[in-house]
Amino acid sequence: AELELIRAQRFESLALLAGGLSHDLRNLLQPLLLAGDTLEDYADDPRLARLGALVRDCGRRGLEMVSSMLSFARGARRAEQVRLGALLEALKLLMQGSVPRSIEMNVDIFDADVAFEGNHTELQQCLLNLCLNAIQAMPDGGHLKVETAQANLPEDFFVEGEQPAPGRYLRLSVIDTGAGMTTEVLQRLFEPFFTTKELGTGLGLLSCKRIVASHGGLMRVRSKLGEGTQFHLYLPLNPEEGVDAEPLVMESSLQGE
Ligand code: ADP
Repeated sequence: AELELIRAQRFESLALLAGGLSHDLRNLLQPLLLAGDTLEDYADDPRLARLGALVRDCGRRGLEMVSSMLSFARGARRAEQVRLGALLEALKLLMQGSVPRSIEMNVDIFDADVAFEGNHTELQQCLLNLCLNAIQAMPDGGHLKVETAQANLPEDFFVEGEQPAPGRYLRLSVIDTGAGMTTEVLQRLFEPFFTTKELGTGLGLLSCKRIVASHGGLMRVRSKLGEGTQFHLYLPLNPEEGVDAEPLVMESSLQGE
């Protein structure tokens, strides 16, 4: 038991350190990424433009590593009231400089004041992971949509020991018009270290899934090769924070494959 306590304390310090470091690193990397991007666009000398692109790509890669680190530094997590508006505004800010001109990004917030119990930082990391994946799936450009809605549980809600609570859910969707996935990739998506990218970590989706599960929620994927991918997160809303009391109708777009 003592050993366990020491382990827990160690983990907590590590989590604190990683969390703090990630935060500082992110503040350094974001302006770097923007600066590189601007240099690439406005430099008259092509060599300078290439340098700008390099700086931007390194910054972006660094931000992704910071995201993975943050997701794993969740030892000291706190439950708080998460406001949908604040969550998505933060996401937009974090995505600035990571969305190439060829990609149109839209964030739709159905009600900024919806609030639920959870962890803002974790959910932000989760959405950021999904959005960065979506962008990487659209090398030739496309449309990235972040949608929100109140929803019922998906019809296939009993999967691998998931025990969702009855009640109302908030659905957060990240939708891209990118490459889509093969059946093989779809099946292996959440395996640790599974990646199809040269520089991937294969940890992004796994940590998303863990975050969503720790909120008592569910995650569903829908993908069509050559057409795009949809990730849907279902997070339980506390009943007293729900927006209205009408029964919710399942949307047909979510039924079947
Ligand atoms: P990583 O991004 O480091 O590879 P992830 O766990 O986030 O790790 O993703 C695992 C794999 O899932 C990716 O390598 C990719 O093949 C696939 N994937 C994830 N998101 C998408 C998406 N939006 N479109 C197509 N494929 C995706």
